[in-house]
Amino acid sequence: MSVLIKNGRIITAADDYIADIFIEGETISAIGKDLPIKADMTIDASGKLVFPGGIDPHVHLAMPFMGTFSSDTHETGTRAALHGGTTTVIDFVLQKQGHSLKEALADWNSRAKGTTVGDYSFHMAITDFNENTKAEIREMVENEGITSFKTFMAYKGALMIDDSQMIGLMQEVKKQGGMVTVHATNGDVIDYLVAKHKSEGKTAPLYHYLSQPEVTEAEASGRFADMADYTGVPGYIVHMTCEGALNAVRNATRRNQKVFVETCIQYLVLDASLYEQNFEGAKWVMSPPLREKKDQESLWAGINQGLIQVVATDHCPFMWEQKLMGKDDFSKIPNGHPAIENRMELLYSEGVDKGKITLNKYVEVACTNPAKIFGMFPRKGTIAIGSDADIVIFDPNETHTLSAKTHHMNVDYSGYEGWELTGKVKTVLLRGQMAIDDNKCLIDRGYGQFIKRSKVSGKI
Ligand SMILES: [Zn+2]
Repeated sequence: MSVLIKNGRIITAADDYIADIFIEGETISAIGKDLPIKADMTIDASGKLVFPGGIDPHVHLAMPFMGTFSSDTHETGTRAALHGGTTTVIDFVLQKQGHSLKEALADWNSRAKGTTVGDYSFHMAITDFNENTKAEIREMVENEGITSFKTFMAYKGALMIDDSQMIGLMQEVKKQGGMVTVHATNGDVIDYLVAKHKSEGKTAPLYHYLSQPEVTEAEASGRFADMADYTGVPGYIVHMTCEGALNAVRNATRRNQKVFVETCIQYLVLDASLYEQNFEGAKWVMSPPLREKKDQESLWAGINQGLIQVVATDHCPFMWEQKLMGKDDFSKIPNGHPAIENRMELLYSEGVDKGKITLNKYVEVACTNPAKIFGMFPRKGTIAIGSDADIVIFDPNETHTLSAKTHHMNVDYSGYEGWELTGKVKTVLLRGQMAIDDNKCLIDRGYGQFIKRSKVSGKI
């Protein structure tokens, strides 16, 4: 099977030009002006932008939570991602405290294998670092292609590791050629504030926000950067939300340390005023919470300053009925919000179309950097000869409205209901196959492939 995409305006992290792309099988085999080639299928992309497939390195699909699961499965979540121009996602396998990494991986494989529609990979979340876990790190890197290890500095008793485990893990991961990623918030301070608010009878979603002030994130981000610097391990801070945390990373650059930073689309476009309504605010209960307008400005600036390399989602949807578990207690509201389908279009409309970032920067933070940082480049994340033919054909002028009535995520509300966006994903190819065309998904569950990732250098 061969495909010829004609006359599109090709955007990569570095380039911007009009040309044809010729695809043979799963990969791009030629790029050029007026290619004199006949293909099995020809797509006219005149007047359209042509991006590499988006990569969302932070999603939680079918994640076990309080006896239930986040509501998008690997099938529905990756299908929704494709509709929004994201062709590869990285999901998190969570080790259970007292159990092995292998058991956790088998558990995740039982849900993901053979069911995903788009391509996917896994991070391994380390919640219990001991001699047995240590021995498994090498196996994950060498045999499973899992080269990034997530840690939590919060959620004591469930996910959190202490600093002694953190240092031990960092040393081992560095030795094996991997990366340590972190949920950087001070768990002890947050637990104290949650208990204090509850004891005062303050149970509304607003108190979720007030229990996680900026300082809890800034302090932990700085502590993580210091420990990463001491051990020399490549480090990556997930879902950064605020100016204070960004300043901690800015400080680290003064000793020539590179700590990678990811923010998520919601922190760039939504703010904490959403918590001021009653229980409705539960739609945006996530950790860390949405912040202030001044933080949004810092984050956009951080992207343009090269301090923030990635815009992800932390997609972790729950149905409204699941959110109601916390009706009388904000600490029981399942944390998370749906965005896997909206990231690329929101970032284009709010970022590129409103003049906050360039087209090249857009591709860099949504496609190329996630591939480079996590060991998938140049197979994924760019448009080049030899790369996987993961391609998005995008109409920069079409306007449309986001709504739970029309989205493809398995969740009964949208965090962006009624938002009018400029720019729409029209056609998506995944490894040379037409995956999305005109709002229809043309590939089946099971098409998605697990992407084994390479060791990482901590440099891009
Ligand atoms: Zn997450």
